Amino acid sequence: MHRKCAALVDLDAIRANYALACRLAPESRTIAVIKADAYGHGAVDVAHALRGTAPAFAVAIIDEALELRKAGINKPLLVMEGVNSISALECAAEQKLAVVVHNDKQLDDLQRARLPAPVSVWLKVDTGMHRLGLAPDDVAGAVSQLRASENCKDSIVVCTHLASADVPGSAFTRQQLDVFDSCVAGMDVQQSISNSGGILACPASHRDWNRPGYMLYGITPFSDEVASASELRPAMTLQSEVIAIREVAASESVGYGGRWTASSAATIATVAIGYADGYPRHAPNGTPTMVNGCVAPLAGVVSMDLITIDVTGIEGVRIGDIVTLWGEGLSVNTIANAADTIGYELLTGVTSRVPRISRDSSSNQQ
Ligand SMILES: *Cc1c(COP(=O)(O)O)cnc(C)c1O
Repeated sequence: MHRKCAALVDLDAIRANYALACRLAPESRTIAVIKADAYGHGAVDVAHALRGTAPAFAVAIIDEALELRKAGINKPLLVMEGVNSISALECAAEQKLAVVVHNDKQLDDLQRARLPAPVSVWLKVDTGMHRLGLAPDDVAGAVSQLRASENCKDSIVVCTHLASADVPGSAFTRQQLDVFDSCVAGMDVQQSISNSGGILACPASHRDWNRPGYMLYGITPFSDEVASASELRPAMTLQSEVIAIREVAASESVGYGGRWTASSAATIATVAIGYADGYPRHAPNGTPTMVNGCVAPLAGVVSMDLITIDVTGIEGVRIGDIVTLWGEGLSVNTIANAADTIGYELLTGVTSRVPRISRDSSSNQQ
């Protein structure tokens, strides 16, 4: 690796964040959500880091689960979108994947298939988000059908997803919980509701299984401060290096379209990272970066491979100095707000051009 542009991943931080999710919900089992390559942190590395503590992992799609199996991860794995054909269902059964069933077709397929072994099923109910899930009135019937099928293991989890868990005290969350609770009342099933927001701010959503994703990576899902989230440790630091420095005079402009103009003499550092690495192209002038412990604001539009930052008055900035784009001391949420997106998108959007370097104090593998 010749350039210093890298996504540094702190697996100890992920373990600590996972432990926090467990501590906040001691009655629940905590399934670590590692979809989208563990939100850009490397699903195989994260699964290895958590293999001693997490009872199970969740991904969005079957291909993600198969990659983990190929990499030797033999823990229970849940496919949260479920599968959409009988052949995929056979594959899930062979690979011992648990599947979500969220619509009638999946329910039919599951009953019609001749599986080599029964699969674990999570039945999803639509409690108001209106994205995936059976209507609450159809759940009892579906549970009986699944129980009658040899393709389905007996222990069924009924689950739902919260639309506004990132808003503590949300009335909509309360409404979803009410719908869920009346749906499962009297049913002998396990339950699962919480994502990160629910774990951190809504104990009423803690059930048999919780499903944290974002918080494992150390970022708060809330826009305001929430006490339980203050212990989170950001796991990814995105960094690169200064590759050029120049002085510009007052009224000179920088970058494509001359979209930043010096109001007085300024020092501009050019940093080797751009939107082709996953730095957001919509980050405006003034978006913070960190260099030598100081904030250096973006000056000029983000290009494919480069950004320009204003280092005026920062002592001793040199070619080769490390620039932090987000991570410890500079939340990815800050950058996301500036660029009119969310931290989830930035973390999952770091591209394959950026090497990922993980650090794990409990093993000597790098
Ligand atoms: C992604 C996802 C989660 C995790 O959500 P976070 O907000 O990242 O904690 C949980 N459940 C489902 C169904 C998901 O798709």
